[in-house]
Amino acid sequence: MSKEKKKMSLALKIFIALVAAIVAGLLMVNHASFATAYIKPFGTIFLNLVKFIVVPIVLFSIMSGIISMRDIKKVGSVGLKTVVYYLCTTAFAIIFGLLGGNIFKGLFPVVTTTDLVYEAAEPTPFMDTLVNIFPSNIISPMANANMLQIIVMALLIGFSIILIGPRNQKIIDGVNTLNDVFMKCMEMILELSPIGVFCLLCPVIAENGAKIIGSLAMVLLTAYICYIVHAVIVYSITVKAFGGVSPAKFFKEMMPAIMFAFSSASSVGTLPINMDCTEKLGVDREVSSFVLPLGATINMDGTAIYQGVCAIFIASCFGIQLTLPQMVTIVLTATLASIGTAGVPGAGMIMLAMVLTSVGLPVEGIALVAGVDRIFDMGRTTVNITGDACCSVIVNNLEKKREAKRA
Ligand code: ASP
Repeated sequence: MSKEKKKMSLALKIFIALVAAIVAGLLMVNHASFATAYIKPFGTIFLNLVKFIVVPIVLFSIMSGIISMRDIKKVGSVGLKTVVYYLCTTAFAIIFGLLGGNIFKGLFPVVTTTDLVYEAAEPTPFMDTLVNIFPSNIISPMANANMLQIIVMALLIGFSIILIGPRNQKIIDGVNTLNDVFMKCMEMILELSPIGVFCLLCPVIAENGAKIIGSLAMVLLTAYICYIVHAVIVYSITVKAFGGVSPAKFFKEMMPAIMFAFSSASSVGTLPINMDCTEKLGVDREVSSFVLPLGATINMDGTAIYQGVCAIFIASCFGIQLTLPQMVTIVLTATLASIGTAGVPGAGMIMLAMVLTSVGLPVEGIALVAGVDRIFDMGRTTVNITGDACCSVIVNNLEKKREAKRA
């Protein structure tokens, strides 16, 4: 009970920090350079600490999870359910984005497109993304915090520990102890999250405050309506139907992670808090330690929604009417693009180039939305991590049922 109380109070502290950051940011709209120079660095320090702990947490918690499952088939079953859920919900998300874009299209501003310049980065082809999942050495996945490669590494080493049989006791103890050490380290870092949230969000509001009420307000509002509709409809229904958890309880326990994602715009950075929240929702570590890092890398429902809304907006600015087959193409490419998007701030905007190109829209159109990308990003990251958590609750419940049946 006292533990519960302590955790509640951290959520409240984060909430207060969030509100304080919005108020302070709005007061500093005319002194944005001060906020950027002196407040943002503390946010960056906090985010660095979180990123520092993410790699060992993912590596050791997946290994420790596999060792405790002692069953390679179970890992396969968890993996399959996870990927199916991620793909289906992302397809829904992009459909919501396109629907919302079409419904509100009439209210979007028509911005002149003659002087637009945007240098699109070369998007990574899908086959390269596939190849890049597999690490070619043991150091670079950790040095570059490449989550998919770390997951592959942890799976291989974890399976090997199981397969060497009785000789593995010492290494099992070692992995479990290291896992405990990094978890403790993470707990200490998370205690600082209210300060982190304040220092990350305040400069963003100070820099962008005026833009929120600027000409793109309707496009931003449309994206946020779609984010909320997707979260309320898809996550509430699936978490109740397949996860056996009431939507009210789910969103309540998820609040710290939601607020952190909103402030940091990084799914990977939110990973430790997300693990903490899903644990409170009753998800076993062995499931969350696999499902969440995978989701932070490949499951981006919010990003998919954003790409749908922006594609419609950019098309309307160029006076192009998207046809139904083009919209279907957007559903497919945005699903792939969201898989290829890294869980870091701004990554979704780079992948928007791939979506626009697939239907022949000019990539320079990205310049229309680039100025307010951070505001889109805060919402899409929040949806991204909520989808990951929802999946972990569902997979955990389905696995428990499967085991009960087998027993
Ligand atoms: N910032 C997002 C995330 O971390 C990715 C994106 O830019 O869409 O989930």
